Amino acid sequence: MNCPCCGAPTRVTNTQQHGVAVERLRRCPACDHTFRTYEQLDTRPVRPRKPAPKKAA
Ligand SMILES: [Zn+2]
Repeated sequence: MNCPCCGAPTRVTNTQQHGVAVERLRRCPACDHTFRTYEQLDTRPVRPRKPAPKKAA
């Protein structure tokens, strides 16, 4: 994840689990901006990208 202030790559400084969600504290080494990101479980069904190949009989 890149810094929302300057666009530089950031580092994760702390990670906390909240049930199915994950909270990450990130810091930008370039401008010292600190922010949080949240990662959540998406329970929507995932469609396969390609249909299964049909076998010619
Ligand atoms: Zn930055």
